Amino acid sequence: MTIDDKIGQTAQRGASSRVKGPLPEALKNAVREGRAGSVINVVDIEKVNELQRIAVEESPRHIPLIFARDVIHGFKTIFPIPLGQAATWDPEIVEQGSRIAATEASSNGIRWTFAPMLDIARDARWGRIAESPGEDPYLASLLAKAYVKGFQGDNLSAPNSIAACAKHFAGYGAAEGGRDYNSANIPEQLLRDVYLKPFAAAKDAGIGTFMAAFNDLNGVPSTGNQFLLKGILRNEWKYDGMLVSDWNGVVEMTTHGFARDSSDAAAKAANAGVDMEMASNTYEKNLKELVASGKVSITQLNTLVRDILRLKFRLGLFDNPYTETPDGKVILTDANLAAAKKAVIESTVLLKNDNITLPFAKNVKKIAVIGPLADAPHEQLGTWTFDGDAKDTHTPLTAMQQLYGKDNIFYAPGLNFSRDRGTDGFSKAVKATHDADAIVFFGGEEAILSGEAHSRADIGLPGAQDSLISALHQEGKPIVLVIMAGRPITLGNILNKVDAVLMAWHPGTMGGPAIADMLAGIYTPEGRLPVTWPKTGAQEPLYYNHTNTGRPATKQAYVALDSIPVGAWQSSLGNTSHYLDAGYLPQYPFGYGLSYTMFDYYHLVQDKTVINPGETIQISAEIVNVGERAGTDIVQLYVQQMVGDVVRPVRELKGFKKISLSPRQKQMITFKLTAADLAYHNQQMKLVTDPGIYKVWIGRNSAEGLQGSFEIKEAPVVKEKGR
Ligand code: BGC
Repeated sequence: MTIDDKIGQTAQRGASSRVKGPLPEALKNAVREGRAGSVINVVDIEKVNELQRIAVEESPRHIPLIFARDVIHGFKTIFPIPLGQAATWDPEIVEQGSRIAATEASSNGIRWTFAPMLDIARDARWGRIAESPGEDPYLASLLAKAYVKGFQGDNLSAPNSIAACAKHFAGYGAAEGGRDYNSANIPEQLLRDVYLKPFAAAKDAGIGTFMAAFNDLNGVPSTGNQFLLKGILRNEWKYDGMLVSDWNGVVEMTTHGFARDSSDAAAKAANAGVDMEMASNTYEKNLKELVASGKVSITQLNTLVRDILRLKFRLGLFDNPYTETPDGKVILTDANLAAAKKAVIESTVLLKNDNITLPFAKNVKKIAVIGPLADAPHEQLGTWTFDGDAKDTHTPLTAMQQLYGKDNIFYAPGLNFSRDRGTDGFSKAVKATHDADAIVFFGGEEAILSGEAHSRADIGLPGAQDSLISALHQEGKPIVLVIMAGRPITLGNILNKVDAVLMAWHPGTMGGPAIADMLAGIYTPEGRLPVTWPKTGAQEPLYYNHTNTGRPATKQAYVALDSIPVGAWQSSLGNTSHYLDAGYLPQYPFGYGLSYTMFDYYHLVQDKTVINPGETIQISAEIVNVGERAGTDIVQLYVQQMVGDVVRPVRELKGFKKISLSPRQKQMITFKLTAADLAYHNQQMKLVTDPGIYKVWIGRNSAEGLQGSFEIKEAPVVKEKGR
């Protein structure tokens, strides 16, 4: 290959959204001249094959292209947003969803997706929390593996496998103040113990590609960050896959004030090991000269190109460059829709259910359906659904009409869209409740209120939704609030005006039928929160696995303090860590979620209280379904190291099991832990497990549980650095 051939491979071309109409001549020419290694956002099979034909037959080296697209939570069959999928705590359904996405997308020529996003998110103001696996590194790591397995299948070269991409490496979710693209300042110890964990898991699962993040990490933009991209990713982790920049990420290093000009930006990215440049063209413009001047060595350029070609080999593109139309239907099949519906049921979190409002009793026959999200087929799909169609979407309104009969559903949205401030529709909405036995309010956020560049300072219900709910409350009928949103929504006083709350996230194509069935009790909601749910956005960042201050208040004091409504002045707890006017505890803790039945936890049993080197401890509890209905629970194991070389989190998730029990059925659940499971990075950045006392809990969420403790007698340093 000539140097031009090599530089050509490093370019990703295409368009910022789907290429519509005929293929642009400029794109065809670039491919013909060997100036493209990958193409983004060309979707139709004919266009994909035409461009591929040009690459393979007419370009100087006949090297096939990789076609890329953001297939984030489904291609045509849209699953719940990734944060919703995290609420399933079920790697199997996540794997199934990404397998379906891969099959559907690859049938359209796509062989590379920019997913999963693995950025730990601890701040619900950040719009991209919707795309995240939540706040916990253990849960996120399990989901990371599931996404990789699903997208890439058993064999990356199979025509229905697509390369996955671990993004955004790294720290993007720690954007200061939750403002997108903002600087992330993360101490190395926290970086390694929290933020990098899901990325390491994706690497271990054999992920094909990584994407460098937009943000600067501790002052160095990720795209040119040698410590991150070379030191950790390539040298420590021995990652041999491909690394792409984010959109314009290379040239934006000039705006960061980290690169003098586009040439300097290209040199910094290339030398940090960014193989392919997305959108901006600093490589194309400068690499030849940079190699000539020795600022980028030819060996380094060869390394970049090797990674790109290796991915193409792994995808089997040299053998099978073209996309064949699959035999039979693969898009929106009954099986795909059934899996998407199951994912909604598994992801929906029952937050409140006073007086067993849900499921609706048999005598609830007529239902008023109100709210801006009841029949909003596009909005319920959520962020990043380039290829999902509103026309394929099943809304709650249509599903409820089918289930209860059209004449028994009184529909009046009250508001036209989530941010609507107009009150003109209120009286009609109130009237619609008059003959109803119960009210279901579908509220939350439009799709565009979360996702990239869509952070919010106030994360309450937007527009006049609060006022409308208050007006409905006057009618004195049971109200169920179904929230569809890309983040936890703070509810304030509204929480007291509704009887039940279901968090459905943005549920995707099958949101309607799944929600209708859950309201009616045909299915039970199974989700648990993958993020802490704050009382007010002003508490953010708020997360369960924080460290202790030297001045924490007692739990009882916090609980007393937190019973006072947000905004009211509260008596001070002295010099302890708290707000005077917003409490301290969240509205709902990480891991929280109710069921239509009830579970009791009994008898924490440990097989030992001391772990000697090489031993495993078993910790068990008995779970009993003490309610009247069958249901599922997610049994969670948390640990706290009481004293460390650095301050340690007050709790860390170390295991969980999802179980289904019929009424009065019991099950013993056992978790196993070894010293290695408790390792963390100490001041010397060594991965160690310290001797000492550890507390342990088995419970239904991160704020409760049966408690035990054990001692680690003597533990070796696990590794110099690692994960
Ligand atoms: C986003 C990435 C995405 C890329 C391509 C960027 O703006 O940050 O997550 O994959 O665009 O669409």
